[in-house]
Amino acid sequence: MTDLSMANKAGTAAFDVEAIRRDFPILDQQINGKPLVYLDNGASSQKPIAVLDAMDRYYREMHSNVHRGAHTLGDRATSAFEGAREKVRAFLNADSTREIIWTRGTTEAINVVANGLARRLKPGDEILVSHMEHHANIVPWQMVAERTGAKVVPVQVTPQGELDLDSFNSLLGDRTRVLALTHVSNVLGTVNPIAPLIERAKAHGVITVIDGAQAVPHFQPDVQALGCDFYVFSSHKMFGPTGVGVLYGKAQLLEEIPPFQGGGEMIERVSFERTTWNVLPYKFEAGTPPVAEAIGLGAAIDYVASLDRKGMEAAEAALLTRANELVATVPGMEVIGTASNKMPVMSFKIAGLHPSDIGTLLDQQGIAIRTGHHCAMPLMDFYGVPGTARASFAFYNTLEEVEQLFTALQKIQRLFA
Ligand code: PLP
Repeated sequence: MTDLSMANKAGTAAFDVEAIRRDFPILDQQINGKPLVYLDNGASSQKPIAVLDAMDRYYREMHSNVHRGAHTLGDRATSAFEGAREKVRAFLNADSTREIIWTRGTTEAINVVANGLARRLKPGDEILVSHMEHHANIVPWQMVAERTGAKVVPVQVTPQGELDLDSFNSLLGDRTRVLALTHVSNVLGTVNPIAPLIERAKAHGVITVIDGAQAVPHFQPDVQALGCDFYVFSSHKMFGPTGVGVLYGKAQLLEEIPPFQGGGEMIERVSFERTTWNVLPYKFEAGTPPVAEAIGLGAAIDYVASLDRKGMEAAEAALLTRANELVATVPGMEVIGTASNKMPVMSFKIAGLHPSDIGTLLDQQGIAIRTGHHCAMPLMDFYGVPGTARASFAFYNTLEEVEQLFTALQKIQRLFA
C-alpha cells in the first residue's frame, strides 16, 4: 500500500474517509458479487444519511404546501423550505435570498435564463459558449438563437482540454451579448479561469451565465467575488436529492427578465385584463415547488459544511494524482483532458476497446463508471471519438478504490484489447 493510500485509509483527525463512508449507506453493498466501487459521481453523487433523514422527517412531521400560511404544518414546511433557500444563499455568498430561485436542476435553470434573455437579443448578436459545454449549456441557447436571429459561437479548447484564451479573446467583441460558460467540465474535469473571463466580459457589457453543475460538488463558489450575473447548479450532483436545482441571478437582472412559466405562486394579481408578477424569488417559481428536495439540498449543504473543506480537497486531489500515476500501468490507455487545474475526473480511452465495453466489464467487477458522449457531443467531435469512459471521484472514494479501478482495467486490457 502506498503512503497516500495508508493516509487515506486511516484518515486524519479532520478528514476520516472511513467514517465519512459510513454516512453513505448505499456504498456498503455488493454489485455482481463484488464490493461496490462508485466512480460515477459526475453523473450523480450519493446521499448521506443526513439528507435522507431530513427528507424523511419533513414528510413524517411537517409535510404541507408552502406559503399558504393558514395552519401550523404549513408554517413549519414554509420555514424549513425558506431555511433551505437561506442555506443556498450562504453557500454561494449571494447578497439576498431574493436572488436564489429553485428550479428542477441546472438544465431548467439555464432554460429560465436563456428564455429570459431572449427579448434582449436581435439578429447578429452573439452568445459565446465553449466547445466543452454540456448540451444543457448549448441547446437552450440554440433554441433562443433560432427565435431571435442571434448566433451561438463556441470558444475553442486546446488539445489538453483547456479553454483556448486566444480564441476567447478574439471572439469576445462588440456583438457578444451573453457569455455562457461551464465552471468545471463534466468530461475533462478542467476548471475554467472564470473570474478573469467574467471580468473581461463585463467590461464589454456582456451578461455572464456560469454552469456550476460540476463545480459545487468539489468547492464553494463565491458569486459576489466572481461577479457573474447568473450561476446555476443541480442538487443531485452535490449530495442532495434529484428534482431540485438552483438559479442564482443578480436581483436587478431577475427583476428585468420575464418569468419562464406561468401559474400559481408566481403571480401578484390575476385578472382577465392584466396579470402581474410576484416579487423575487417567487416570480420564477410557478406551481408547488420541490419542498422536500429543497430541504434535502439544505441538509446536503450542512453536511458538506460539517466536513473539513481543506481535507476534502486534499483527499480528492490525492485520488486524481494516484489515478494519473497508474495510467501507465494499462497499455494503450490515454487520458482525455490533462489541464493543469482539474477536478478529480478522468476521461479515457483504451486502444482496441469500445468505451461501452469498458463500462460493462467494469460493472461485472462492481465498478461503476460512465461511458458515452457525456452530453458533450461537440467535445467528442473535437477529440474525434464517439465517446469516452469516465471515472469521476467524490470525497468518499478511497485510494484503494482507485487502485481497484486500475487493477480491473489492466485485466480488461489483457483479456479483451
Ligand atoms: N452542466 C453540466 C456541466 C453537467 O455535468 C450536467 C449534468 O451532467 C448538466 C449541466 C445538467 O444537469 P442536470 O441534468 O442535473 O440538469
